[in-house]
Amino acid sequence: MSLRIVVCVKYVPDATGDRHFADDLTVDRDDVDGLLSELDEYAVEQALQIAEEADDAEITVLTVGPEDAKDALRKALSMGADKAIHVEDDDLHGTDVMGTSLVLAKAVEKAGYDLVITGMASTDGTMGVLPAILAERLGVPQVTLLSEVKVEDGTVTGRRDGDSASEQLEASLPAVVSVTDQSGEARYPSFKGIMAAKKKPVESWDLSDLEIEADEVGLEGAWTAVDSAAQRPARTAGTIVKDEGEGGKQLAEFLAGQKFI
Ligand SMILES: Cc1cc2nc3c(=O)[nH]c(=O)nc-3n(C[C@H](O)[C@H](O)[C@H](O)COP(=O)(O)OP(=O)(O)OC[C@H]3O[C@@H](n4cnc5c(N)ncnc54)[C@H](O)[C@@H]3O)c2cc1C
Repeated sequence: MSLRIVVCVKYVPDATGDRHFADDLTVDRDDVDGLLSELDEYAVEQALQIAEEADDAEITVLTVGPEDAKDALRKALSMGADKAIHVEDDDLHGTDVMGTSLVLAKAVEKAGYDLVITGMASTDGTMGVLPAILAERLGVPQVTLLSEVKVEDGTVTGRRDGDSASEQLEASLPAVVSVTDQSGEARYPSFKGIMAAKKKPVESWDLSDLEIEADEVGLEGAWTAVDSAAQRPARTAGTIVKDEGEGGKQLAEFLAGQKFI
């Protein structure tokens, strides 16, 4: 039977752009270009490698996000994923990680899965908690922060590298894994891949397709709230220490004055 892999990919505001909060203190997603979160490219890459090793596998990429989030799906499809699911609904505006994990869990269940792969964190929210909450909601094992991952005989194994030790982890499928940016360079889409992606299926689902009520998500259903946000102050020119024999001493005094040493 085919190994069903679902990769969760997030469409995030481009970090090089000028990002703002909207009046309701949600991220202003209208005025800034977005892209597939770079950390999720590693998740797509690992899915492709697992599929290449398997006799028969199918990769579905899944995103919860606004209309433009389709761009993230197209990128993943052009890297080699087989099909895509886009969950979009006006009532998702302001959804926090609890709501996002609910939507992803319902979508993963509806799609059917043996293995869910996520990035280690998104490049905008950077909470890094979604994979664990998703696994809990699905009631399956979570094997997170892997820098190496393999699937064989209904089991996923992987290596998690810490500061002082590496752990070898194992779980039976179905399971959720998250992979780090040390798991292997993500491939660039080839021209052939980009052309092929245009013909690959992208399904669109809304909250009613997933039997989720509007008050379970959005600002109303959120477990967290942003109370206030302030523009970061403009950068100051900084202090230049010229070395005329006393540079090291002046540098140490500066660092001590800032309580860095
Ligand atoms: C339209 C919209 C509006 C939102 N508004 C708010 C808001 O006002 N306040 C708020 O707190 N949150 C909001 N969110 C949710 C937020 O953007 C995050 O998706 C969610 O909080 C998860 O947090 P994170 O990105 O830090 O996850 P992390 O735990 O850092 O992400 C880990 C991994 O989970 C997967 N993942 C995360 N998010 C998604 C996703 N959306 N689709 C597919 N995979 C994903 C990726 O693989 C990622 O690498 C909104 C989301 C949407 C779609």
